[in-house]
Amino acid sequence: MENRVETRYTCSQCKRTRALHFGSPEQDTMAFIPKNNPNGLFIYSDIHRCKDGFLAINNLHIDANSSVRTIDFLKLPSEKKVKPSVVGIPVPSEPVSLMKSYRITGIRSDQSFRLTIKDDLLDIFLIIGDIQLDDEQAEYQIKSNNDTVEIKYYHSDLQFTDNLEDWLIELANLLELLPPTKVGLFIDTLRYIEKLRKIPPAPFHIDLLKTILSSHKIFFDVNQDTELESALNTIEEMYGSDIIQSLNKILEALQTNPEATLQEFTQANDEDLSHLVYLFLILEQENVITIVRPDEIKFT
Ligand SMILES: [Zn+2]
Repeated sequence: MENRVETRYTCSQCKRTRALHFGSPEQDTMAFIPKNNPNGLFIYSDIHRCKDGFLAINNLHIDANSSVRTIDFLKLPSEKKVKPSVVGIPVPSEPVSLMKSYRITGIRSDQSFRLTIKDDLLDIFLIIGDIQLDDEQAEYQIKSNNDTVEIKYYHSDLQFTDNLEDWLIELANLLELLPPTKVGLFIDTLRYIEKLRKIPPAPFHIDLLKTILSSHKIFFDVNQDTELESALNTIEEMYGSDIIQSLNKILEALQTNPEATLQEFTQANDEDLSHLVYLFLILEQENVITIVRPDEIKFT
C-alpha cells in the first residue's frame, strides 16, 4: 500500500489554503510529471475554482518527499500579437523553443487528453499531460484556418476519431478567432470536448465552446417581452423537466441582479461551467434572455 500524504499550500490569488492528497511523485505517475532538470523536482497542476469563480491552475514544484518547493500561478497573456503578414507569402511561425511554455499535468485526475497547443498570436505553447517532447511523436496534427494555432494529439486512452478531429479543428479555429481566453476556461472547454468527443460537433455545441472560451467577457439582458411561462413550457417539452429548477434559479438571480455576469454565476453555483453555459444558451434560444457578447464573437 502506498503512503498518501497531505500537502497544504495557500493560493496567492484566492488566498485559500488548499489541501492536496497524493502518493509519492515517483509512484503517482498520473498526477505528476518529472521536471526536466537535474534537481529532481516534479510538477503537479492543482486545478481549482479561484477568486473570480473560474478554474485556475497553480503548478506546484514538488520534491521527492512531497514538499512544495515553489508555486507558479498560470496566467495566459491578455493580448494577442499582431501577426505580420505579407500578401501571398506565408510567414513562418515562431519556433516553440522561443515561446513561453506552460505545462499542465492533466485536465482530470484520471485518463484524459494528451495534447500540445501552439498559439502564435498569444505566443504560448501549452503542453497538457505527461508528454515527453523529445522522445514522443504526435499521432495527429491539426491547424487553424490561418495557421496561427496548431494542436498536436499524442497517444492516450482516448481514441482519436473523425468526430474528435472535427472538435479539435473547431477549437483551433475558435482560439484563432476569439479574444484571449483564461487558462481555466480553456480547461473547461477541453473537458467539454472530452465529454462529447464521440458525437460530431453541431452548431449549438460550437456556440457553447465560444461562450465558454469567452465567459469572462459576457453578461445578460432579460427580455421583458417574452412570455416566460410559455417559454419555460417549450423548454420543458424539449429538454425535460430536470433543468427547469436550475433555469428558475438563474432567472431569479438575474431579476435580483440584472448586471450579473457569467462569472458571478460560476461563483455562486459550483456547477460545471459547460452545464451552466448550456442552460444560458437554452434561455437565449427561447428568447428569454439575450447574451451580450464582445464584438469579436457576435454570433450570426
Ligand atoms: Zn486560487
